[in-house]
Amino acid sequence: MTNPFENALRQLQGAARVGEFPGDLIEKLSRAEKEITVTIPVRMDDGTLRFFEGYRVQHCNWRGPYKGGIRFHPDADIDEVRALALWMTMKTAVSNIPMGGGKGGVVVDPKALSASELERLSRGFVRALWRDIGPQVDVPAPDVNTTPEIMAWMSDEYTKLSGDQTGATFTGKPVGQGGSEGRGTATGLGGFYVFDAVRERAGIEEGASIAIQGMGNVGGHAAEIFTAHGYKVVAMSDSKGGIYKEDGLDPKAVEKYKEEHRSLAGFPDAKEISNAELLELSVDVLVPAALENQITAENASRVSAKLILELANGPTTPEADEILHQRGIAVVPDILANAGGVIVSTLEWEQNLANEQWEEGKVLAKLKETLVPQADLIWQKATEKKIPLRVAAFMVALDRLASAQVQEG
Ligand code: GLU
Repeated sequence: MTNPFENALRQLQGAARVGEFPGDLIEKLSRAEKEITVTIPVRMDDGTLRFFEGYRVQHCNWRGPYKGGIRFHPDADIDEVRALALWMTMKTAVSNIPMGGGKGGVVVDPKALSASELERLSRGFVRALWRDIGPQVDVPAPDVNTTPEIMAWMSDEYTKLSGDQTGATFTGKPVGQGGSEGRGTATGLGGFYVFDAVRERAGIEEGASIAIQGMGNVGGHAAEIFTAHGYKVVAMSDSKGGIYKEDGLDPKAVEKYKEEHRSLAGFPDAKEISNAELLELSVDVLVPAALENQITAENASRVSAKLILELANGPTTPEADEILHQRGIAVVPDILANAGGVIVSTLEWEQNLANEQWEEGKVLAKLKETLVPQADLIWQKATEKKIPLRVAAFMVALDRLASAQVQEG
């Protein structure tokens, strides 16, 4: 099954079966509180007018404002954004930060737009949506293909339309334009903190071998961070394909090569591999850091890693989860492993509201303090109850959501 929202619902139901949760809770979380679809008219450079479809799904705000990124992707659709919004509710609850869950998407291939078209699209999305967002309502952020620069355009447009001067409606802005130190690397670094917290218990040696799928903000930084800590990143890939080198790649050199050649093909002394092959490499740790539905019923039996660290959202389907659990392969779930991004986003929001700018050291210390105890808690729960880490993480989130739930009369 590859409909991401159906997969998200199956994960929710899986956790509901193991724990004792009020029936209403699961029913409520199985749907979004509000879904907005907008049309964004954009004047293209050649003078023609094009219309783009955009979504914002506001899933749950019991614990704080809706929070989650905006994705620009040609395959974005409402079911994907619904799933991503539900995962954000779980992620903010797992992180125990004062935020709810939401997500946005625009159906567009941003690589096919000029910079000024991209700016008009970004501002147009905010014009269509601004009455439904705000520092205490819904706080969007970057996701796949959306950059700090795009957040700066969106934040500026929101300020002009609303008059709100806090800059706290969009996070992931550039440092110097209201952004936080540490936000750029936060998702990759948070993933490393989580990995480091569970590594020994997962039976993985320091300096182990890692394969990373995806070279966006998350995968690119993760490769550098793991390498800086003495791990051997043997494979990396972008959307077109990957490369493998048994004694380890230099992520910075790979990034540079990709920038110059727009592709990894031909990278010196490395073997070219497909994304499918990358997932099946014999490595200690597999890090999917691209899109959903990569590890499925079809290939899960061939995954040879000992541990999967999900830096993408939804890379493993429920069928694959079952196969991996039976095979004893630990999956550190997205809602824990990639929570570093939204945690530092929330610190950015706090800084904006207080009109402060914190030093990087302070931000990263707070990130670690927030994430590591949750990784410990989830590992413990999973071991005690002999359940997958994902189920344990959902249970932790559901407990917190249950206490935050407002009872209907
Ligand atoms: N898009 C990121 C995620 O999936 C970050 C969200 C945020 O910073 O609000 O968690």
